[in-house]
Amino acid sequence: MRFFVETFGCQMNVADSLEMGRRLRARGFRTTKQLDRADVVLVNSCTVRDHAEHKALSFLGRLADWKSAAPGRLLIFAGCAAERLKDRLGRRFPQVDLVAGAKSIGDFDRLLAERFPALPFDGQQEWVDAWGWAPGLGETGLPGEGVTAFVTIMRGCNYACTYCVVPSVRGRELYRPAASIFSEVKERAAQGQREILLLGQTVNSYRPQGPNPGPEGREISDFSDLLQMVDAVPGVARIRFMSPHPHYVDERLAQAIHRSARVAPHIHLPVQSGSDAVLARMRRNYTREEFCRKVDVLRHHIPGLAVTTDFIVGFPGETEEDFLATLRLGREADLDGAYTFKYSPRPGTVSAQGADDVPDSVKEERLARLMEETDSRSRTKLAQLVGKTQEVLVEKGASEGSGFVWEGRTAHCRKIYVTSAKTHTTGDLLSVRVERADGKTLYGRVDA
Ligand code: SF4
Repeated sequence: MRFFVETFGCQMNVADSLEMGRRLRARGFRTTKQLDRADVVLVNSCTVRDHAEHKALSFLGRLADWKSAAPGRLLIFAGCAAERLKDRLGRRFPQVDLVAGAKSIGDFDRLLAERFPALPFDGQQEWVDAWGWAPGLGETGLPGEGVTAFVTIMRGCNYACTYCVVPSVRGRELYRPAASIFSEVKERAAQGQREILLLGQTVNSYRPQGPNPGPEGREISDFSDLLQMVDAVPGVARIRFMSPHPHYVDERLAQAIHRSARVAPHIHLPVQSGSDAVLARMRRNYTREEFCRKVDVLRHHIPGLAVTTDFIVGFPGETEEDFLATLRLGREADLDGAYTFKYSPRPGTVSAQGADDVPDSVKEERLARLMEETDSRSRTKLAQLVGKTQEVLVEKGASEGSGFVWEGRTAHCRKIYVTSAKTHTTGDLLSVRVERADGKTLYGRVDA
């Protein structure tokens, strides 16, 4: 029996697919990358933007033929769009056998057992904890797994940003016990996954109430403690985290990153807008000045820190003045790069109840100006690396014909192609001299 997984959306969703995949593996299923060989298909969906939801639903629609091509095939629709649409899916997609919304990931085993009581079960089920980790089930070979281990440390979000559908589809924050995180990280590192990516919707708000013992009974009270716990696991070469919220960035976190030798000097800190008026209407819980001050605190403690961000343009009521404030923020905060998005209202959010009053042509025009600014800033930062030595984590052999042997990432998460006279393996840390920067990619040679 084999299962096929298609994941839409963010890295949290990739991690959730891995967790659900582990539960299927505990029932004796094996993965396949060929749809026509699959007995079970798991579609893990995203709803954060209309486009992402539409892509998942059209894939689901195309699976009607797969489902009817052989008896006994099972189709599972999971994730954020599944949570948002669950009661309305049946009529449009009768081919779906089980809906497992984003709030049900921890309950996936029970849903499987209830809906498919005849599914095989090899007796390991009780080993899978509520966060999907199970000893020995780490190597699933699912898309997204390679040198980087995706380790979920919390789920949900206690914020209420007015444009965001996440709190309604993922619920309030739930924190994973430190002992479970530690066990998973230890096993991942022992299996050769050299980079640990700690995941949570607001990952740095990790603050379990009550006792939360880590290794040797040490109390893990917040995200700073957790970083240092993971930093001490043998075999871990690099630690990243995604996505932090600016509200929880403080001196303590900056010092913890500084003290943790393996935490990469890069933070992706979504700001969304450079205008205080827009930030207030988004209910982001910080001002532009506070955001810049937090970036300064981080830079003060972490030498060579790279800071990237997310921006939304065309939020309701955004004036040209507001937009110019956003445009200026990249330069003022010396940001290293940004993902830029055009606002689109999501059903059920506060901002969708008001008018989407920035014309699409204006959103497009602002998006183009912002992308030009952020891309040019990013190119300049890359060009400054030429001639310098970077620590590179090898992720894979470069594609054939590229003329380069290894593909990896610098500590700032920049993609780099590396030539080397020696043989390396995935997960090696190399000292690489950057020879060229081209667009968003670096090219270099292993230092002799
Ligand atoms: S912090 Fe805001 S944008 Fe991020 S998931 Fe929570 S509500 Fe959404």
